[in-house]
Amino acid sequence: MASELTIGVDIGGTKMAFVVADRAGRVFASDTLPTSADDSFDKTADRIASLLNPYLEAYSMICGIGIGLPGPVDAERGIALHAANLGWEGVPIRDAISTRLTKSPPIYIANDVNVGAIGEQRYGRAQGVANFVYLTVGTGVGGAVMIDNRLLRGASASEMEIGHVSLDPVNGRQCTCGQRGCLEMSISGKALIAHARQHLAGGVDTCLSSEALSTRAIIGAAEKGDALATHILDIAAEALGIACAWCVNLFNPKLLVIGGGLIHATWHLLEPRTLSVLRARSLPLNYEATSISLSQLVDGALGAAALVWYHQNEGQP
Ligand SMILES: [Zn+2]
Repeated sequence: MASELTIGVDIGGTKMAFVVADRAGRVFASDTLPTSADDSFDKTADRIASLLNPYLEAYSMICGIGIGLPGPVDAERGIALHAANLGWEGVPIRDAISTRLTKSPPIYIANDVNVGAIGEQRYGRAQGVANFVYLTVGTGVGGAVMIDNRLLRGASASEMEIGHVSLDPVNGRQCTCGQRGCLEMSISGKALIAHARQHLAGGVDTCLSSEALSTRAIIGAAEKGDALATHILDIAAEALGIACAWCVNLFNPKLLVIGGGLIHATWHLLEPRTLSVLRARSLPLNYEATSISLSQLVDGALGAAALVWYHQNEGQP
């Protein structure tokens, strides 16, 4: 039996994943439960506790529970501020779980992007790196910044909203945040589809069709050399390169970890252009100091388990 263990809980829009793991990332138990926005918060908290309590009975050396959440959190007060897929607004997740447990290990919460960065530092590409930026691109764009082994934290827990930094505030596509030309309008799953729709409406020669449009279809078409799909991914690659250069110039990281579903699915198409734009747009001194790496896709629940070590080690990874 390992000495100290932590529990990680990754709460997503469709499922919750649980692990019991040690400091080295060895997993002793794991489980998943479906989530539903139809369930009340109390019911979801009951279901989470019904899984955690047997773990607490079975493993005596659990020194904390980390919970990753899909949206902004108030980590100090233990509140999930907004989780649209779960229908949660300002719910006291930490206390709700704590009062349902038979034992009282400390509980830490963080949003899933910060959990991703912590997971990469403990178990993934950023091991041993004290200063790095983590960018994740999927349906949207998120990011986290680790400086001297501490995550950058904003005044309202909404730091690093790089997806809403504008590349083209005058002529760019309208974003849901009210601005035009946000990064998220050039590189994200929804951006690729919106971009393709715009061109399809104008009638271009492409194998893409508006009836069967998906990011997967666009990637497949680009792999076959389709001109429209290639154009859309070139724009995405350029936007990603610019975003990487922002990070390199602003934070002077030793490492830039990029990940998320869309990046992993498209990196073979994006890489040359993204890296050349990054190089061209970065200050030389900053560029030379930075390596770039794809994320290792550390399991979300394992990242949440690492959240406990992050807090209890006080900055020493
Ligand atoms: Zn925006």
